[in-house]
Amino acid sequence: MSVRPIVLLGDPRLRLKGLPVDSFGKFLHGLLDDMTDTMRAAPGVGLAAPQVGEALQACVIEVRDTLYELINPRIVRAAGNDRDLEGCLSLPGYYAYVTRSEKVWVVAQNRNGRKIKVAGSGLLGRALQHELDHLDGKLFIDYLGSMDELIPVGSDEDGDDDGDAEHPANTREAAKVLA
Ligand code: ZN
Repeated sequence: MSVRPIVLLGDPRLRLKGLPVDSFGKFLHGLLDDMTDTMRAAPGVGLAAPQVGEALQACVIEVRDTLYELINPRIVRAAGNDRDLEGCLSLPGYYAYVTRSEKVWVVAQNRNGRKIKVAGSGLLGRALQHELDHLDGKLFIDYLGSMDELIPVGSDEDGDDDGDAEHPANTREAAKVLA
């Protein structure tokens, strides 16, 4: 297991659509283990295979001490709307408000190819949508009307240290959705 370099915005590999995984052996298991190490070292709550340069339909998410390894995942149902701050390990230093579904239901395979189902709202729901977007070559900035909507980490706007009554915990929350 090892930490791999994370592919950053501007690298064309981030825009490749991941190929379906059809082999559930050593290569996949090594990739998943490395992705988990890389996600934890960042730290972030999720990481998709294209972010370590592998154009495959595989991602990892860790929320509230539960690790999800999702192979060939797809959203089968979505409900509600939720607007919150979100960041990406491939675009360090910036956050933005992104509207997502409030809850999603995902069908995927585990590392051994067995079918699994994951439903998530809140942080998990947002991470699921963010990672599945990566597998389609899509980034959270694609939802923005303009790059001016990006909020630099540590700016007044992210409620870092000024006790902003409207967004008192934005920095902390945003740190949780780096994926
Ligand atoms: Zn991301």
